[in-house]
Amino acid sequence: MTTIHTWVNVPTDSDFSIYNLPFGIFSTTTRTPRVGVAIGEQIVDLQEVAKQGLLQEWAPDQSIFSEKSLNRFIALGKVATSAIRLKIQDLLTDDHSPLKQGPSVLVPQSEATMHLPVEVGDYTDFYSSIEHATNVGKMFRDPANALLPNWKHLPVGYHGRASSIVVSGTPIQRPSGQILPKGAEQPVFQPSARLDFELEMAFIIGKESQLGQPISTAAAADYIFGLALFNDWSARDIQQWEYVPLGPFLGKNFGSSISPWIVTLEALEPFKVNGPVQEPAVLPYLQFEGPWNYDIALEVGIQPATNSETIVSRSNYKFMYWNMLQQLAHHTVNGCNVRIGDVMASGTISGPEEGSFGSMLEIAWMGTKPIQMVDGSTRTFLQDGDRVIMRGFAQNAQIRVGFGAVEGTIIGK
Ligand code: CA
Repeated sequence: MTTIHTWVNVPTDSDFSIYNLPFGIFSTTTRTPRVGVAIGEQIVDLQEVAKQGLLQEWAPDQSIFSEKSLNRFIALGKVATSAIRLKIQDLLTDDHSPLKQGPSVLVPQSEATMHLPVEVGDYTDFYSSIEHATNVGKMFRDPANALLPNWKHLPVGYHGRASSIVVSGTPIQRPSGQILPKGAEQPVFQPSARLDFELEMAFIIGKESQLGQPISTAAAADYIFGLALFNDWSARDIQQWEYVPLGPFLGKNFGSSISPWIVTLEALEPFKVNGPVQEPAVLPYLQFEGPWNYDIALEVGIQPATNSETIVSRSNYKFMYWNMLQQLAHHTVNGCNVRIGDVMASGTISGPEEGSFGSMLEIAWMGTKPIQMVDGSTRTFLQDGDRVIMRGFAQNAQIRVGFGAVEGTIIGK
């Protein structure tokens, strides 16, 4: 790969290298919400770039850069959005770039407020990590038969709640709900005592499909705009009482947090790897060509209100048993349509070993193995004031492409 040099000062360990250039929505005290591209510790203000006439070729209607979400920008289509990304890359590498003249195309990230990047129409959550599904099966059901019979035949998922998806940094209020105390016969109503995170990644739909028309695995990548980090907050005690027979409901829909920068599939291309071997063989509509997992290192930290952060998990997106193409093909095989801005989350991403599990449920094994924090306290689930931070990046010898972070702090009732 040829090395690309930018005239912007980018720290070597920055997630937002010249090879990344993710899209998001930002504002400042003087700039209304608008489309931006992250580079190093700066943001390229696309509204200002468009004003200079530099994006006219692909986006004749400049108002799409002044929106409160990326939906209309994404609707330009991948040919246009990819070309715009490459144009920004050119503008950031050209020493005589017009962006260097005149005022204020670059904005420090420290001065910006990030917004929810897309208006989410529908949110689907999968359950595609075999390690996570096995761990949960062992705890909640039968250690000898942890995976249910359908699990290796289809990417299990459920329809989540779009209205409560919030951008990184939004506080999460501890939910109350019906909980069945251990050994009791009647439920009580109280704040969740088993509040948890779920380390996930989400992909954002970038192209509308038609009702009645399945998306094949061969076509699926064309419908995916990019990826973000995703924390699917979960109240295990509420979940455990409510989930039979129809699945997750109030234990899940009180909040999910998404990182503000959407990293495009193009930027992640160098980090594709083969996924686990799928045995038994999957049905023809779930078969696919080529490597479609991604080597993205993930970590979760918990920072108590008055103390420093403890890293509680290191995992990797490459562990996923089912990949995005299969998830989307399965989701639409019955004719269900998708729309721009829909969010499809991976499900908790656990690795094979302790230390790589993607939820407190697994890390502290249903409360039986408290973990030690650097401040000397212990955790089995989340406490009020805990700030949960998830980070993710892909890296090889030459380049780094990262997601920044998704974080949220638990506030008590
Ligand atoms: Ca989940």
